[in-house]
Amino acid sequence: MRNVKEILKDNNFRFNKQFGQNFITDTNLLGSMVQDAKITKDDIVVEIGPGAGTLTREIAKACKKVYSFEIDRNLKPVLEESLKDIDNSQVIFKDIQKVSENELKETIGGGNYKVVANLPYYITTPIIMRFLESDYKPESITIMIQKEVAERLVSKEGTEEFGAITLSIALDGEVCITRNVSREMFMPMPNVDSAIVRIDLNDKYKDVDKKKVKRVIKAAFSMRRKTLVNNIISNFDIKRDAIEKVLCDMGLDPRVRGEALDIDKYIELSNKI
Ligand code: SAM
Repeated sequence: MRNVKEILKDNNFRFNKQFGQNFITDTNLLGSMVQDAKITKDDIVVEIGPGAGTLTREIAKACKKVYSFEIDRNLKPVLEESLKDIDNSQVIFKDIQKVSENELKETIGGGNYKVVANLPYYITTPIIMRFLESDYKPESITIMIQKEVAERLVSKEGTEEFGAITLSIALDGEVCITRNVSREMFMPMPNVDSAIVRIDLNDKYKDVDKKKVKRVIKAAFSMRRKTLVNNIISNFDIKRDAIEKVLCDMGLDPRVRGEALDIDKYIELSNKI
């Protein structure tokens, strides 16, 4: 493949900030990301936002087939050139947020799949939640995201970063930061550093009423400075005495705040409300 900067230049490509276009050019980093995603030759991969196709090429080398969803049609000539010698990739020019679960299933054949993406930062949370809450879940999600967001996703209860998103992920899988990535690795350079995060999905809590647990979590963090009891009574039809007794029975101080409980405690609390 020709140098990616030349391909972009020759096609008069203009970066679109609105689509979070910060491309990776470093081949070592691209290879490391694919390694972190634990892609094997049997894997079907869904990529979000192939950009100039540099990550797509590395994914394709490691997997059976990669399906890449790209919102920006201006990248068509660029991707046609950068992927012309790759025969196990397919680019679909669509906003991933408008691709239904059924359409995704039909496109990729309905089998197991892994998600890999250098995500545009503006859709990090909706993308994670969409795949976690789907009836057609991937085996894993490996994404390059803003470092601060990555730190929030792996934070532990009792810390300031710990929040509703961390707990929601814990209901469906295990998350780890595989590496930190300097802002200098991107073109154009963003004003934040990044990290690669992998979420391995599991069905540890398959018998749990996840919708209810998420309602309790949402309530617990609705007013960050309020106690858990106050947040619960403003969101559920339950008396103060009753919820305080529930917390005492769980061995918790009634003045506890939402960020002090881990996912198992939220499941227990949800069962008791
Ligand atoms: N994968 C490339 C790389 O690593 O160099 C590009 C990553 S760039 C951070 C994000 C890419 O996602 C851009 O190509 C952008 O156009 C695309 N994109 C943004 N929003 C999207 C959406 N809703 N659906 C599909 N692609 C999207």
